Amino acid sequence: MSENNANGIAKRELLILGSGPAGLAAALYAARAELAPLVLTGMTLHGQASTTDTIENYPGFPEGIGGTELGQLFQAQAERFGAEITMDVATDIDLKKQPFSVRTYSNEYSVKSLIITTGADPKKLDVLGEKALTGRGVSYCATCDGWFFKDKDIVVVGGGDSALEEGLFLTRFSNSVTIIHRRDELRAGAILQKRAFNNPKMHFIWDSVVTEIIGEDAVEAVQLKNLKTGQETLKETKAVFVAIGHHPNSEMFADQLELDELGYIVVNQKMETSIPGVFAAGEIADPHYRQVVTSAGMGAAAAIQAVRYLEDLEAKE
Ligand SMILES: Cc1cc2nc3c(=O)[nH]c(=O)nc-3n(C[C@H](O)[C@H](O)[C@H](O)COP(=O)(O)OP(=O)(O)OC[C@H]3O[C@@H](n4cnc5c(N)ncnc54)[C@H](O)[C@@H]3O)c2cc1C
Repeated sequence: MSENNANGIAKRELLILGSGPAGLAAALYAARAELAPLVLTGMTLHGQASTTDTIENYPGFPEGIGGTELGQLFQAQAERFGAEITMDVATDIDLKKQPFSVRTYSNEYSVKSLIITTGADPKKLDVLGEKALTGRGVSYCATCDGWFFKDKDIVVVGGGDSALEEGLFLTRFSNSVTIIHRRDELRAGAILQKRAFNNPKMHFIWDSVVTEIIGEDAVEAVQLKNLKTGQETLKETKAVFVAIGHHPNSEMFADQLELDELGYIVVNQKMETSIPGVFAAGEIADPHYRQVVTSAGMGAAAAIQAVRYLEDLEAKE
């Protein structure tokens, strides 16, 4: 429970920003260390994974599990040990001095330690059909969904490293992978390009954008527009993997914590950020793996470190 000071500021040992796999795993570990952590859910309760029908690669669920259901289980497990989860969004943060200050829509907190797990959202194409067919052939993660498209013809949108990495990975399952790129050359590194051009399952459509994703209950085709000629064509496909980048939710921390060139929070192996007592975990600090299991693992590590940090702090006081 919070202890409020004279100004109505709630005092907390540990505050966790975000209720995705990283935030709720951190909450579980911190709760089991009797820190009674408070989790601010943000706008997406249970995080990105809650938006998908089935998760088949989280260990312990041989038949797979619904994204919403998994999020609810994460929450129940953390609450069982004393984590408090509240629907609120952090709006302003001051990390200049200990204790740190966190403002939210409805409160102000003074916290000794902070775990940031605000995630990174995949960039969308923003075309007709994309939202309705997400999880029905539209995907932002080849590792998560590639398996569903065994022996199918599929497309990947993008021209950078992640588009080629996703595309090459998908050739393990699919019959063919067509990269759709808005330019006439790729931005990806030379080695990846060589591997892609040498792979007989990889094909390329240049100078083109997807203007619509078509399908009733599942993806059936994409409408393409050639940006040089203006010509429109229909390409049949069973899946559209969108690989045009991610947007880390780190704006609030930009002037206070070290970020990398893409905006991800820089952490070391202990999930420590550039400020002692502030930890980051999950996709906000991970441009590489972007999985429920890896995010949850980082969240657990961050909580273990936060416990150690608070013990050291208490010993000094
Ligand atoms: C459609 C889809 C399907 C997927 N399928 C799979 C799959 O099958 N298997 C798999 O392993 N992975 C899958 N993923 C990826 C997986 O969901 C992510 O890797 C994982 O959710 C990342 O966890 P996270 O806790 O780091 O961040 P997120 O899940 O992104 O959670 C971020 C949290 O931060 C909160 N937040 C943001 N800003 C604030 C703020 N200012 N204040 C407070 N809270 C804030 C949000 O509300 C949210 O709760 C999928 C992703 C998508 C989008």
